[in-house]
Amino acid sequence: MNLSLLILLIEDDPEDAHIIQRILKAEKNASYDIQTVHSLKAAQELLKTKDVDVIITDLNLPDSKGLNTFCELQSLFPKTPIVIVSHLVDEEMALEAVRKGAQDYLLKDLRGLEILPRVLRYAIGRKKYQENLRQHINYLEYYDSLTGLPNRVLFVDRLNQAVTQARGSNHLVSVISIDLDNFKRINDTLGHGAGDDLLKITARRIAKSLPETCTITRISGDGFIILLSVVQHTHEAVETADKIFSSFKDPFYVNDREIVMGVSMGISIYPDDGEDAESLMKNADTAMHRAKQASHNSCQLYSSSMNSKALERLGLENSLRHALQEGRLVVHYQPQTDLKTGRITGAEALVRWNHPELGLIAPMEFIPLAEEIGLVVPINEWVFETAVGQMKTWTQEGFGHLCLSLNISGPQLEEELLIKQLKSLLAKTREDVKKIQLELSEHVLMKRPNMISKTLREFKAMGAKIAIDDFGTGYSSLSHLKRFPLDIIKIDRLFVRQLTRNADDAAIVTAIIAMAHSLNLEVIAEGVETYEQLEILRNYQCDKIQGYFISRPVPADEFMKLLKKSALP
Ligand code: C2E
Ligand code: MG
Ligand code: MG
Repeated sequence: MNLSLLILLIEDDPEDAHIIQRILKAEKNASYDIQTVHSLKAAQELLKTKDVDVIITDLNLPDSKGLNTFCELQSLFPKTPIVIVSHLVDEEMALEAVRKGAQDYLLKDLRGLEILPRVLRYAIGRKKYQENLRQHINYLEYYDSLTGLPNRVLFVDRLNQAVTQARGSNHLVSVISIDLDNFKRINDTLGHGAGDDLLKITARRIAKSLPETCTITRISGDGFIILLSVVQHTHEAVETADKIFSSFKDPFYVNDREIVMGVSMGISIYPDDGEDAESLMKNADTAMHRAKQASHNSCQLYSSSMNSKALERLGLENSLRHALQEGRLVVHYQPQTDLKTGRITGAEALVRWNHPELGLIAPMEFIPLAEEIGLVVPINEWVFETAVGQMKTWTQEGFGHLCLSLNISGPQLEEELLIKQLKSLLAKTREDVKKIQLELSEHVLMKRPNMISKTLREFKAMGAKIAIDDFGTGYSSLSHLKRFPLDIIKIDRLFVRQLTRNADDAAIVTAIIAMAHSLNLEVIAEGVETYEQLEILRNYQCDKIQGYFISRPVPADEFMKLLKKSALP
């Protein structure tokens, strides 16, 4: 990767400035044009005339001290990545600057500064990535890219207008929330491509069955929402729902497969069920969930007395509690494969809720609720024990080398009692603890860095390994990670997905891998779905991969079959 960058170095100590210039000039893969100034004022003057790629700054300058230096620079040049160089005594302040949005900080000892070139490459990659992302987001501001339907922003805007108009007259407004029954299963069996096609066809069918004056929006993966801006009577909304049901009577065809699909719907009416957009949408949704629970392929009207928020919560809470007691949770295992040997070296345990009516529910849909109501602790304990039991079975079957990755939730690391519980679970696994990798997402680490770092050191002293999950989606300050006792970095699948299409993502991934290796960390790329991605990651010296290309997360017996034929193409 050959880079040519214009760098503004703000450093009043000539010796420090000299060291930094020397390190940058020694870098072979990039050429840096370095402009050095000694004060904030001089920097501001220079930045008026020049567009620099990165700013490297000391926080304590003759005319500005501490965080003020960073804040001034950031407010004037919010799009330019800023890297802080700091003495050890000012580390807390540098860290605060990172929390406020600085790209990274480096300590002014030689080991700290050595990684500067890589930090810069990473900074540039990330800046370009964010710019692309911003453009994309602007484009998506009002429309759904998959179906071409107006998106939520436009929907809410039109609903607000409709409510304002209705206030001045006698008519009603109606919102209908629609959810496709069992869409998840279709997605899982036929793949996401087919799932996307089906969503497009569905959107067209719904649109065709309704008058042109309706606004239709895809509100979530398989959820749609409809606005009827002028309604004289509730039964008009019910008739509209009937039309939608009729449009689902004929089967859908995707990839030459015939698919029969049901829908659940919920209706809310202005002014009875809500006087603003937010409550009308929420209540239509609540009614839709009721319909789904009552029986598939049905529709319910919301009426304010029917289901208060508390009741809804209680329903979900209870069924999740029961799920745990009745053994409705299951653990699936997704292989982690070594890119050098092509062999499976471990598995990530991923929990699912096997719902009697809805089928398998993904953890993203119930872990947040479980966290909120304190259920995540017994759930994690159950996952922990089940998966460790599974690891023992692997050992008995001759796969004693396999590691086991377990996901840890934020609340587990925030209370003394829960930390104790996790420690006793780890202790119970005895010598197997060496094969356990605890995965924490980046934002969990950053919440209370000092306390979490201490806890992680204790886990590590017991023998467990620590992995940072979904890396790249949070603070992304690699040198900041040095304070945590990490062993593994898992690159988020967002970056892997674009690897073959987007040069900036590729640059970020190479930078993450190089940085991680310089910190002696192992790198696992998540969400590898194609052979091309695998090849690129192998060329980039990534250590391991995980993703649908090797296998989806599967039940324990299927995982055993995979183990027996583990080899890469
Ligand atoms: P995670 O730890 O980042 O897990 C990886 C997620 O990516 C899994 O989703 C997995 O099915 C999905 N995935 C793997 N390979 C691919 C791929 O090639 N393409 C795509 N599109 N996706 C892929 P899943 O199972 O839905 O889990 C979501 C998250 O839920 C996990 O993210 C983890 O943070 C959390 N979670 C899962 N199990 C547990 C658990 O037992 N306890 C706790 N606390 N959290 C859990
Ligand atoms: Mg994970
Ligand atoms: Mg992950």
